[in-house]
Amino acid sequence: MDLGIKGRRAIVCASSKGLGRGSAEALAAAGVHLTLNARTKDTLEATAAEIAKTYGVEVKAVACDITTDEGRAQVLEAEPAPDILINNAGGPPPGVWSDWGRAQWQAAFEANMLTPILLTTLVLPGMIERGWGRVVSITSGSVKSPIPQLGLSNGARAGLTGFVAGTARQVAKHGVIMNNILPGQHDTDRIGALMNARSKNEGITVEEARAGAQAAIPRGRFGTPAEFGSVAAFLCSEHVGFMVGQNVLLDGGAFNSTMG
Ligand code: NAP
Repeated sequence: MDLGIKGRRAIVCASSKGLGRGSAEALAAAGVHLTLNARTKDTLEATAAEIAKTYGVEVKAVACDITTDEGRAQVLEAEPAPDILINNAGGPPPGVWSDWGRAQWQAAFEANMLTPILLTTLVLPGMIERGWGRVVSITSGSVKSPIPQLGLSNGARAGLTGFVAGTARQVAKHGVIMNNILPGQHDTDRIGALMNARSKNEGITVEEARAGAQAAIPRGRFGTPAEFGSVAAFLCSEHVGFMVGQNVLLDGGAFNSTMG
């Protein structure tokens, strides 16, 4: 399917690896020019070079921490007029509710709530003026169904979801479309770290932790960054002009419900 976005310009945050990279690759395959971001310069530049070579699009790499004001300013300096913004950052550490005080909550709010809210706020005026924009925020299945050990994610991402729900309905009339993707378990470094933690906590091997987690998903396996990226690129396409403020769950059927 032609996504109708060839030649558009996108910022994809936290995109040297994992779901961000999957999204960047799918946009590049659709002919979108990219500004990528991550903290580790070498990995980021290698990803940018590979994507540019494979897809023949312009790719800028901005090595910085997207959860800081300086980081966000650097990314916007590299791409001041994006048509597309994909909000993403690293996820919070696992634990239990009694582990987290003000500092931990503050860090989770900065990374997984305020960063996407502030970036969206910075790009919306230009998108509105140009009459076209797409903002996709990578949140988590934890917004729909809380994950006990990821309470920081459950809380911070719920706040972002509320912001998107209200704002999407205010900007849609200007051709700016905002939606969220809620990933279930996808095979990335992040899931590797969570599986390591599970193996330690439960006294099982990492292989047993992975097998158990995959067996609990109706699809029988983790999702892939490429599958995730295809959905993200579709949500950035011409075809979603009437899809406003939705939360798209990508979890292999793990959330058990008849609808909704
Ligand atoms: P990942 O494979 O660990 O990749 C994270 C990417 O983000 C890397 O490129 C990393 O590069 C970059 N990054 C992390 N912190 C950053 C920061 N402060 N500033 C800029 N870049 C940063 O993670 P993932 O699995 O793709 O997860 C992406 C997001 O989806 C996370 O918030 C995660 O919690 C959420 N999520 C993932 C899953 C899953 O199953 N994978 C499920 C639900 C939700 P550097 O480290 O070099 O900065």
